[in-house]
Amino acid sequence: NRQIIVSQLPQGTLTEDHFALQDAEMPVAGEGEVLLRTILMSIDAANRSWMQGATYRDAVKAGDVMATYSICEVMASNSPKIAIGDIVAAESVWADYVTRPARAVQKLPKVDTLSNLISVYGIAGKTAFHGLVSVGNPMAGETVVVSAAAGSVGGYVGQIAKALGCHVVGIAGGPEKCKWVVDELGFDACVDYREKGLFKALRAACPNGIDVYFDNVGGPVLETTVALMNERGRIACCGAISQYDSANPTGPRNLPGALVVKRLRMEGFIVMDFAKDDNKAIRALQTWVANGQIKVTEDIVEGLENAPKALIGLLAGDNKGKRMVRVGAD
Ligand code: NDP
Repeated sequence: NRQIIVSQLPQGTLTEDHFALQDAEMPVAGEGEVLLRTILMSIDAANRSWMQGATYRDAVKAGDVMATYSICEVMASNSPKIAIGDIVAAESVWADYVTRPARAVQKLPKVDTLSNLISVYGIAGKTAFHGLVSVGNPMAGETVVVSAAAGSVGGYVGQIAKALGCHVVGIAGGPEKCKWVVDELGFDACVDYREKGLFKALRAACPNGIDVYFDNVGGPVLETTVALMNERGRIACCGAISQYDSANPTGPRNLPGALVVKRLRMEGFIVMDFAKDDNKAIRALQTWVANGQIKVTEDIVEGLENAPKALIGLLAGDNKGKRMVRVGAD
């Protein structure tokens, strides 16, 4: 049973030296527990923020097996509610096998493509749907801007906003990604934040200003979008990936001034806040996938041993769509 521990906590940029692969005993399911074989592990920007301290969950500490959200097969069960062979989702760790209390795992429906339960019908799609619809509240004809637009959450945000009839502009790193966001995901435009002149480029792409900004990155990109927001605009704060790897986090300088003058609403959210609406989100996403308005984009890295590289690469922007690691066969 292989597992990957966080051997030391990063102070700045995360590197492979912060992780170590080790062999551990095969775990045995105790009373009320299940033994799980990991199939897929979600790789999320938030994984890095867990190393910065307690957030909406406990911090990951040096010496811990790295935490993750996984899809697993049940190999042994000491619960009448979960059977051997069931496919479940679990808050888990970077390991081939783990045990969990049976009440803490969630049985998954039978689907053709298991990875879709991590991407479009998983945290990524649900975060995009709830954050855009319930926090951003866009109207048809309004302009929606989303950062990390080629990433998993951002890609779905833009596609949902298009399906709702909005003018949609992405922000992403590099010309190739920006082209992909327009050509593959169908955004109206996408601007490259790594180029000089983001303000001008974004202003040109949003001739009517910005009504809704879905913020995945924080920092200087947030500062620029705030400067282009229309009166009574909404900013849905989903994450701040530009700050997770930074030893000196920087916030936008135009807050709270611009919020006051433009009567903006800026609201953070965590996807779990909207769990009661998950079925509604899934049904809407299924409809858009079926009629071709949403493309499912997945970026699957093979092998548990490549999980550190997969997370480091995600933070550096080398993914397109939802990144995950395949640990074992479906
Ligand atoms: P993504 O698939 O979006 O990948 C992250 C992307 O962020 C990279 O591909 C990279 O793309 C971009 N990025 C990296 N560094 C910077 C930077 N300095 N400035 C701007 N962009 C950068 O990851 P996730 O879908 O896992 O996460 C996206 C966001 O959603 C994160 O902020 C995460 O914390 C948040 N999140 C929030 C949830 C909630 O409940 N609130 C739930 C799930 C995710 P590029 O090449 O364009 O730079």
